[in-house]
Amino acid sequence: MGSNSLEKQKILLIHHGHFEHHCLETIRGDVIREYSHPVLIQESHADLSNFYNPTRRQYDGNELLKFLDSLSQNNSLKTIGLFRVDLFIPILTYIFGQALYKGRTGIVSIYRLRNEQYGMKADEGLLIERLRKVIIHELGHTFGLIHCYFPSCVMRSSTYVEDIDQKKQTLCPTCRAEIESML
Ligand SMILES: [Zn+2]
Ligand SMILES: [Zn+2]
Repeated sequence: MGSNSLEKQKILLIHHGHFEHHCLETIRGDVIREYSHPVLIQESHADLSNFYNPTRRQYDGNELLKFLDSLSQNNSLKTIGLFRVDLFIPILTYIFGQALYKGRTGIVSIYRLRNEQYGMKADEGLLIERLRKVIIHELGHTFGLIHCYFPSCVMRSSTYVEDIDQKKQTLCPTCRAEIESML
């Protein structure tokens, strides 16, 4: 093991803009529990205007992921960028997040996780629950997990926010075993 091997074992959660970072402190512990690596929370002031698509009035998730990946070379094991803006990829209306399979980078948006987005009363507890599930899900992809069909597994794919609410924040035993064999 190299002298900076510890440094490279970190999972970075980098929030952009005026993000609800107090939510991230509670989520930090859950990420550590799930993947057994130290988790660091950082703030970024990167200018996102280049990623805005005026036709769709959303931000380009593919370009954002590429950009973040180019910044995250070698300074961490995994990096998840957290955004408040609405993200899309060309084939989908919106995404909660996406990640590079067996890569080092993922992105997550809180935009569609808020109750207010669906005309319902704000619920911070529920927002934190959703956000932590999406973060743990995207990290799973970076560690090499694919979508799981076990109903409560965090690696189950979610199209609607209700799908997120129906699954747990943890990996099912099969995904867990797979992760253990890879970590
Ligand atoms: Zn997924
Ligand atoms: Zn699973």
